[in-house]
Amino acid sequence: MRLDWDSYFMGIAETVSSRATCARRKVGAILVKNQAIIATGYNGSMRSRPHCTDEKVGCLMEDAHCVRTVHAECNTICHAALNGVSTKGATLYTTSSPCWICFKIVVNAGISRICFGTFYRDERIFEEAKALGIDLVDMSSKKKTDSDVDSSIIKDVKADDLYIPGFFKK
Ligand SMILES: [Zn+2]
Ligand SMILES: [Zn+2]
Repeated sequence: MRLDWDSYFMGIAETVSSRATCARRKVGAILVKNQAIIATGYNGSMRSRPHCTDEKVGCLMEDAHCVRTVHAECNTICHAALNGVSTKGATLYTTSSPCWICFKIVVNAGISRICFGTFYRDERIFEEAKALGIDLVDMSSKKKTDSDVDSSIIKDVKADDLYIPGFFKK
């Protein structure tokens, strides 16, 4: 089985999220241009500052939200800026849909396509993306493709157990 590009990059964003430092929500994001990753980011504290996961400080709560971290989407853009890489026309893969603040920054960074894993918080992004001509892709319902299902059946079931005429024909 060979993953399509979107699933491949979302899988990498999910791995990036494992580095996040706020236990309330772990988000990973990557920026991609011409099938190459130009930046990665996860939600975490300002550089060299204590993390939510540090026992001494914990989360910094404000209106029922933790405000200690820089969100993953913004951190990818910061990462690109630090390295002098243009974000114009890039695709953002993020494991959670951007919050309102991140969305606005993503738009102004010239990112033209956003793929997200699960919906988070702000419905306004759908209408705004449409108005801006930004391709906003909800990957939450992305299920296994037909070819994935075929290969799992072929792997788990012996030929003698199941024979459906024409099954293996495309
Ligand atoms: Zn936190
Ligand atoms: Zn955000």
